[in-house]
Amino acid sequence: MESTLVCQRAARKAVQHISYRSYSIVHDVPRTSAAIPHTAPPTPSPRSVFDEAVNASVPRNTWTRDEISEVYKTPLMDLAYAASTVHRRFHKPGAVQLCTLMNIKTGGCTEDCSYCAQSSRYKTNLTATKLSTVDSVLEAARIAKANGSNRFCMGAAWRDMKGRTRGMKNIVDMVKGVRGMGMEACVTLGMLDKEQAKELKEAGLTAYNHNLDTSREHYPNVISTRSYDERLQTIENVREAGIHVCSGGILGLGEVPQTDHVGLIHSLATLPAHPESFPVNKLVPIKGTPMYGNEPVKLEDIVRCIATARLVMPSTIIRLAAGRISMPESEQMLCFMAGANAVFTGEKMLTTDCNGWDEDKAMFEKWGLSPMQTEASKVVEEPKFAAQSFHALKEGQDVQPTA
Ligand code: SF4
Repeated sequence: MESTLVCQRAARKAVQHISYRSYSIVHDVPRTSAAIPHTAPPTPSPRSVFDEAVNASVPRNTWTRDEISEVYKTPLMDLAYAASTVHRRFHKPGAVQLCTLMNIKTGGCTEDCSYCAQSSRYKTNLTATKLSTVDSVLEAARIAKANGSNRFCMGAAWRDMKGRTRGMKNIVDMVKGVRGMGMEACVTLGMLDKEQAKELKEAGLTAYNHNLDTSREHYPNVISTRSYDERLQTIENVREAGIHVCSGGILGLGEVPQTDHVGLIHSLATLPAHPESFPVNKLVPIKGTPMYGNEPVKLEDIVRCIATARLVMPSTIIRLAAGRISMPESEQMLCFMAGANAVFTGEKMLTTDCNGWDEDKAMFEKWGLSPMQTEASKVVEEPKFAAQSFHALKEGQDVQPTA
C-alpha cells in the first residue's frame, strides 16, 4: 500500500515536471524589468538578402548573381518554407494551372540541342511530320479544354520562322481558334523577329515559349547552333510585342546545380520584366541524343531551383514541365509546396509521355489543389476540371462537352 502511494506521488511529480519543462525555453527570458540590463538597444543588423526576398511585396529585377546564390544556398527546409510563404502572398494557394502542349510539327529540326528527340542530327527513331492542320489542332484544344486545361500550347520543331509565310498563317488561325474557345494560347516556334512577334500578338497570342535552357556558361555544352544572346533577343522581341514571355530551363543537362541553376534564374530574373512563366523541365533522357545517360537531376536540386525562382521572381507562374511523369506524387507535392503552380497535363507533352487529366484530377482532389483561373480565360467562363475523361471523348461516347 505504502509503495503504491510512493509510486503515485512520484508519477504526479513527473507530470508536473513534464508540463513545466515543455515551456522551459521561455524561462530563459528575463521575466521582470529589473532583470533587464540597462544597456543601449542593439543596432539592428542589416537585413539579409534572404529576409528581403521573404518580405518582398513587389518583384524586383536588380538581383545580383551572388544574391541569388545566397538565397539558393539557404538550408532546404527554410528555403522551401520561405518560398511557400511568398507563394501565398503573390498567388492563390493551391491553385495550379493546367496546360496542354501539343506538337504541331514533329522532328526534322536543324538545331543541335543535345537533349532533343526532334533534332535531325540524332538517330532517335522519331518520324518527322509536316505542320498539323488547323482543324486537328483546334479539335485537340477542344478536348484539352473539356478536360480542364485552360492554356493550350503548340510547339513546332523549327529553328526559326524565316520564310514560313504559310506556316505562320496557319498558326495565326490556330491561335485565334484557341483564344476563341476562351483558353490561353502559347506557341513555341523557335527564334522570332519583331514583325513575327507583332503578327502573333495581333492574333491574340497569350504567351510565347522560348527557354534559355541553362546558365550562359553551361549553354555551349548543350547547343552550338544558336547563341544565348539570340535566345535573349527572341525573348525581347516577344516582350516588346506585348506577349507574355514563357522561359525556363531543363535540369539534368550535366550542369552544376549550385552555379548553373543560379545562372539560369539570374538571367531571367534580371530581364526588364520577369517572365510570366518559368517552366522547370526535368531531362527526359532520349536514346540517341548526346544527353542520354546523364546523371538524373536530384529531387533536392529541383526543389531548390523552384523555391529560389519563387523567391526571386515571386509573381511568375512556375511550371512543372517535362519529366513530371517520372516524379512520384510525393515529389510533385514538394515542388508545389516550394512554389510550383502549373503543370502540363494531357496525353503527350511534345514527344514525351505526360501525366494524364484523369490522373491529375485524382491527385488534385487528394491534395486539395484546384485548377487555376487566369485573366486570359476568365472572360469566357470558369475552367471545369475533368468534366469527362479524355478516353470517353476520344472514343466518341455520348457525353456533353463542357466547353
Ligand atoms: S530548336 Fe527545339 S525542336 Fe529544334 S532541336 Fe532544339 S529543342 Fe529540339
